[in-house]
Amino acid sequence: MQPAETATTVEAPTRMRGIQLAGDRAVRLAELDVPPRGPSEALVRITMSAVCGSDLPHYRAPAGDLGRRAHIVPGHEPVGFVVEAAPGGVPAGTRVLVYHHSGEGRCEHCAAGEPMFCAGRETLGNHRHGADAEWLVAPDVSLVPLPDDIDDALAALIACNFGTAFAGLRKSGARVGDRVVVTGLGAVGLCVVIAAVAAGCRVIAVDPIPERRDFARELGAAIAVDPTAADPVAAIRAATEGEGAEIVIECSANAGAQRQATEAVRPHGTVLLIGSNSSMEIDPGVDLIRKEVRVLGTWIFKRHEIPAIFRAARGMPDLRRLLGESYPASDAQRAFAAVDRGEVVGKVLIDWR
Ligand SMILES: [Zn+2]
Ligand SMILES: [Zn+2]
Repeated sequence: MQPAETATTVEAPTRMRGIQLAGDRAVRLAELDVPPRGPSEALVRITMSAVCGSDLPHYRAPAGDLGRRAHIVPGHEPVGFVVEAAPGGVPAGTRVLVYHHSGEGRCEHCAAGEPMFCAGRETLGNHRHGADAEWLVAPDVSLVPLPDDIDDALAALIACNFGTAFAGLRKSGARVGDRVVVTGLGAVGLCVVIAAVAAGCRVIAVDPIPERRDFARELGAAIAVDPTAADPVAAIRAATEGEGAEIVIECSANAGAQRQATEAVRPHGTVLLIGSNSSMEIDPGVDLIRKEVRVLGTWIFKRHEIPAIFRAARGMPDLRRLLGESYPASDAQRAFAAVDRGEVVGKVLIDWR
């Protein structure tokens, strides 16, 4: 899916169309200034961005609570091509995805390719304008050149959701033959299902929406469980010979699901938390100590993991089945509403071409 325009035919403008979230679920397509470009920054023509579950708190927030974010373009899953390069940086014309955290560049975390831990962290769509606009000014160090066989839509999925699923599954320590419970079958959860099935795990998929459970089974999940049914933990135990699962990967950010995760994991097992924005109730004695359970958090992926993420994506053709819905920028309101209602199976993309 190559852009119709190329860097040589595109002039850098001073104004752009971009989304603003005005609070209370209002989405505006506004005429905005293209931000000024700093000395180590590039100007990228966006072709594809995407709506993420993590955009929803910003989308749903009351207008009065938005503060400076009322004026920030949202979006942290940008794909496009470089039109103006930083000196010595990724050249103009290069197709890129843009890694959404950047740091001040001098601390140990920046040096390790983990700018999300930098005290000076800036995140696209939060501290600076993000992906949901025709143009993006981004630090050159955040640009990730795309191989020809990773098209723009797949790259938008990799930029947050699949990268997160990949890094989380690795961090969980899941091994071939393990029983892996995945709670919350939004785009991240379905990416975890695909990756865990590909890794030879027996996957138990949990979500209240029947279409998502059906899709998870199509993707290779052995069993799908409705968490609103009588006793979902009993269903997971029954599916794991009464033992509980080696690994539970929680992607829903639902407090009930987080609770069930600690109940459904077996002794010496691992609960990996991906979904955030809720508070989790833990009984240390019952849930952790007397089962010797590990509870880990994971936050997107590290820069050094990107080559392996591309290799993994090539081996998982089912990822493309998540790329169903693509909305033109003029329809962004519908794109956000679709994710908000939770009725979408797969990834919602915004097409800026
Ligand atoms: Zn995201
Ligand atoms: Zn730093």
